[in-house]
Amino acid sequence: MNKSNRPSSSSSSSCSNGLETNRDQGGGRERVEAAPATRLRLRLTAAAESIVRGGHPWIFADSVREQNRDGVPGELAVIFDRNDKFLAVGFFDPESPIRVRVLHVGKPLTIDTAFWRTRLDAAVRHRDGLFDEQTTGYRIINGESDGWPGLVLDRYNTTLVMKIYAAAWLGRLKEIVDLMRERLQPGRIVLRLSRNLEQHALPRRDGELLFGNQDYEGNESPVVFQENGLRFEADVLRGQKTGFFLDQRENRRIVGTLAKGRTVLNAFSFSGGFSLYAARGGAKSVTDLDISAHALESAKRNFDLNQGDAGVAQCRHESIQADAFEWVAGNAARKFDLIVLDPPSLAKRESERAGAIRAYGKLVADGMTHLSPGGILVACSCSAHVSAEEFFGAVRQSAAQSGRKFTELQTTRHAADHHATFKEADYLKGIYLRSL
Ligand code: SAH
Repeated sequence: MNKSNRPSSSSSSSCSNGLETNRDQGGGRERVEAAPATRLRLRLTAAAESIVRGGHPWIFADSVREQNRDGVPGELAVIFDRNDKFLAVGFFDPESPIRVRVLHVGKPLTIDTAFWRTRLDAAVRHRDGLFDEQTTGYRIINGESDGWPGLVLDRYNTTLVMKIYAAAWLGRLKEIVDLMRERLQPGRIVLRLSRNLEQHALPRRDGELLFGNQDYEGNESPVVFQENGLRFEADVLRGQKTGFFLDQRENRRIVGTLAKGRTVLNAFSFSGGFSLYAARGGAKSVTDLDISAHALESAKRNFDLNQGDAGVAQCRHESIQADAFEWVAGNAARKFDLIVLDPPSLAKRESERAGAIRAYGKLVADGMTHLSPGGILVACSCSAHVSAEEFFGAVRQSAAQSGRKFTELQTTRHAADHHATFKEADYLKGIYLRSL
């Protein structure tokens, strides 16, 4: 999960790897059952073969045992098993340690527009009935877990934000965007590129298709959408992720139910998501704490957007711009009845795992020094490299060593629109403790 600040810096020159140039455009058909002699064919180690059979969507470079020729980024690679039978097909990327992102395992089939239409409809069906008109911001496609490796699609009201994490999509954008227009009929589609792809130039503007991460003419204002009846702005062009942390919706809702009459500290508050729910839920006061002035300003605007709600209108709202790790480690005199700790990812790579676990433990221990008797502490982690058990373990250990008594109210994981079907996609965890 990328929670770093990422002001855009990509070039605004015209299309070099974009819409019209790629060989996969046009018909969008790639027949894999009648693979031409030059079709890229791979064989894997026995271990990787069974991992792929088991449904894991990534094939790492060191699992490729045989390859008939060099492949180009984004082309389809067909994987054959040790009996020379079709095993899987996926996007090939010679520049990534994830050499193949698997699209399909089992019987040969054609990867064409109809294939993607079926996948899109399946993703939409998966969310069917999860949200009513009170919630117009949610994830429609969650990458690999929805069969769309390296692509996420978020809805914010009538705007769709598509964020690309894999180069293979760059040559297929027109096909996919046309499909999204056909099936979802958005008012506007914004395209975002992950940092590793930002060097790829894309068109500035193509009809309704607005490309993020770049200068563009037109609608600069953030999109306003609803989440459980609360109104929020999302900076869909430049904001972190696709403009909002949609993944925390369920934890925000729970915090709203716990907030009545409490003084609340929302550490790593971003645009005030947890704060708005707490305010609506009857919190006496809410303190946003974030290092980013931009995020704190956005939170203020979100409070303004919800003044029609009596709870929000009555709640005292304060902002503190500071490094939250430092602030929480000091200032122990300030007490709160409800504390939310939702830091950015503390382990971007496996080597940072042990340090991250220690950092979570310290953050929670420091947070507890601010908690009034009877107070509730909510701690979240979005580090994929730290498992749920490791994170919960660190929090429980800090509670045990605090010299106070805590009861554990609950733990939470991924919301249904952010479901994770494999280990590497499984990042979000939350734990709720009440001090006695
Ligand atoms: N809870 C938020 C999402 C938090 S994202 C929500 O529900 O929307 C993480 C936030 O931590 C970002 O806003 C980022 O600006 C902030 N941040 C990153 N490092 C920080 C630090 N050292 N101190 C305080 N805030 C930090």
